[in-house]
Amino acid sequence: MPEETFHAVQADASVAGASVTGASEAGASAINASVAGVSVPDASVDVVVVGGGPVGMLLAVELALRGIRPVVLERLSTPSGESKAGTLHARTAQTLNRRGLLDAVGRSSYGSVRFHFSGMFELDLGTVAGEGPTLVGSPQARAEQVFTDRATELGAEIRRGHEVAGLAQDAGRVTLTVDGPAGPYELTARYVVGADGARSAVRRLAGIPFTGTGPASRP
Ligand SMILES: Cc1cc2nc3c(=O)[nH]c(=O)nc-3n(C[C@H](O)[C@H](O)[C@H](O)COP(=O)(O)OP(=O)(O)OC[C@H]3O[C@@H](n4cnc5c(N)ncnc54)[C@H](O)[C@@H]3O)c2cc1C
Repeated sequence: MPEETFHAVQADASVAGASVTGASEAGASAINASVAGVSVPDASVDVVVVGGGPVGMLLAVELALRGIRPVVLERLSTPSGESKAGTLHARTAQTLNRRGLLDAVGRSSYGSVRFHFSGMFELDLGTVAGEGPTLVGSPQARAEQVFTDRATELGAEIRRGHEVAGLAQDAGRVTLTVDGPAGPYELTARYVVGADGARSAVRRLAGIPFTGTGPASRP
């Protein structure tokens, strides 16, 4: 991580290969565009990840593997247990396999598998499975727990019941206003990553433009 810059960025599952892979690919590399890079003298935390869903937790794993001890702020005090996603595609499976997490997240299918993606049906996903399984049946809540356990094991600090309500950037750092269980507090960091879902508060607060169609369903 460069000494002299910070960025407020957004990890966007749709950019990260959302579909079936949104959760897993973002952690490795697919953080959305940076907003600002300015000089950083000092800050209390290197990286704060806002949002402890699958994207945020897997990103925490990746950061910890690179020797950075991120703080993850998750507004829910306990995981919802809900699984929007249930299937991971080949590229995600490959990525998780390389991290030793594949077997833990679900059951793999190999070879020619007909499935759908983005409204396209009867796709043979076997044609893109260059390494490892074609498809993995994996309830999102389970994958999220696996990533959380691994991030914790590697030293990431997970703060549950902490909701980000404000974000300000100055020449030296990003300052977050957080509503925690003991009341509001401020946390400064060199980098802040928004992994806080489709209605991302970080995206809004950092002024990151959103050009797609927002979610229409419940929050
Ligand atoms: C019906 C449906 C089916 C799907 N099926 C699949 C599938 O089969 N395979 C697949 O890969 N994907 C699927 N997806 C997409 C997948 O669910 C998303 O890509 C995934 O949830 C994105 O993960 P995320 O961590 O970015 O966001 P989320 O899962 O939305 O997590 C964001 C987290 O941020 C927290 N948060 C929000 N705001 C704040 C804040 N201000 N401060 C602190 N924390 C905050 C939230 O509490 C939440 O825990 C499906 C989605 C839907 C709706």
